[in-house]
Amino acid sequence: MGYDIERFIGPINDGLLCCICRDVLEDPLQAPCEHAFCSVCIHGWLVHENFCPEDRRTLWASELKPIFRYMKNDLNQLQIRCKNTRAGCTFVCDLEHAAAHDRECPFDTVECPSVGCTVMVERRQMEEHLQSCEFRTRECPRGCGLPLLSTEDADHNCIAELRTTLELLRSEMICKVEDQKQEMELRLDAQRRHMVQRESALQSQVDELKSQMSRLTQDVQILSDKEKQRVEETQRLELEKKELMDLLRSLHIREPEERIITKKHICRQCHKTEKVTLL
Ligand SMILES: [Zn+2]
Ligand SMILES: [Zn+2]
Ligand SMILES: [Zn+2]
Ligand SMILES: [Zn+2]
Ligand SMILES: [Zn+2]
Repeated sequence: MGYDIERFIGPINDGLLCCICRDVLEDPLQAPCEHAFCSVCIHGWLVHENFCPEDRRTLWASELKPIFRYMKNDLNQLQIRCKNTRAGCTFVCDLEHAAAHDRECPFDTVECPSVGCTVMVERRQMEEHLQSCEFRTRECPRGCGLPLLSTEDADHNCIAELRTTLELLRSEMICKVEDQKQEMELRLDAQRRHMVQRESALQSQVDELKSQMSRLTQDVQILSDKEKQRVEETQRLELEKKELMDLLRSLHIREPEERIITKKHICRQCHKTEKVTLL
């Protein structure tokens, strides 16, 4: 929205008026067709339309440019009255500096800066209001350093206030510690569960190894039994062999007298008789 044409002193060139609001251009932009508009006015228009409101030529927001420099100079040199003329401000300046005056005009109505206070007063009366503002805070002059509302002044007790603050801090600390404790417990719980899982896995491995071990022990037992049997068998056989050998040897010793048989044999060729020994 442009500046109210009534606020200006002296005649104004038509070219410095917005084609939409017909007031004096504020934050001006111009279309390729050279029609100029307040930034707010033309952007509002282009939300629903896509042509220049003056000559209906196609227009896109991306085509908007700053106005010519000579126009800008003319605009800046217009003499404008303060927007608070009705409230009593008689300030007049060129448009270029109007915004700076608006920010500090003593007749401007502003909100009290105290938190919670909704009083609106003219800037020039703010100092007076703050003297009596219920929500005005200042640092305690008696040393605790806490902000004081002016209404609290009489019954403010530094020690009690500090104690309350301390209590507050302590309960915050307790909350934090409690939170941390819970978190630690959760973590510990998770670790404990993990350990239990691992322990049971290890236990089943141990069980498996034990059963393998007992199977091996059985096998070894069987083998050693067999070995024992074999050794016994060998010993028995050795014994038998020895007995047989003994028997055989005793037979050999007796035989010469008993078993050597002498036969008389008559040779078929020479017809001589010869002695033959049979074993
Ligand atoms: Zn406008
Ligand atoms: Zn146009
Ligand atoms: Zn003013
Ligand atoms: Zn106030
Ligand atoms: Zn205090």
